[in-house]
Amino acid sequence: MSDCIFCKIANGEIPVNVVYEDDQILSFHDADPQAPVHVLIIPKKHIPTMDDVTEEDGALLAHLMLKVQDIAKELGLNNGYRLVNNCGEDGFQTVKHLHFHLLGRRRMNWPPG
Ligand code: 5GP
Ligand code: ZN
Repeated sequence: MSDCIFCKIANGEIPVNVVYEDDQILSFHDADPQAPVHVLIIPKKHIPTMDDVTEEDGALLAHLMLKVQDIAKELGLNNGYRLVNNCGEDGFQTVKHLHFHLLGRRRMNWPPG
């Protein structure tokens, strides 16, 4: 997707502060952090939203989810964290490339706003 900002980040066209990268996923610091630690974890493949995930993305999503604990440890989130996916309009998703927010180092509120 040539006009997708996260595809541009994934292919190195837009520089970001990288936390973790491999051939399938990328994690980088959010430009507008909502917590002392706020990183995004994205598949490099362009998948617009959670609603667009298919069976063939299963291994990719499993790989991403299994890396969350490693990334959290690397960031020193030893007292827990929040992992968030905003989906679609009601979920207030602003970037239409699947991503998960990993937030930590403060106590989160529930229910979310
Ligand atoms: P959403 O609202 O779609 O769940 O989250 C999109 C996130 O991407 C927001 O937290 C926003 O701050 C972040 N973001 C948008 N553009 C950029 C960018 O160019 N660089 C970085 N590092 N974060 C971005
Ligand atoms: Zn994309």
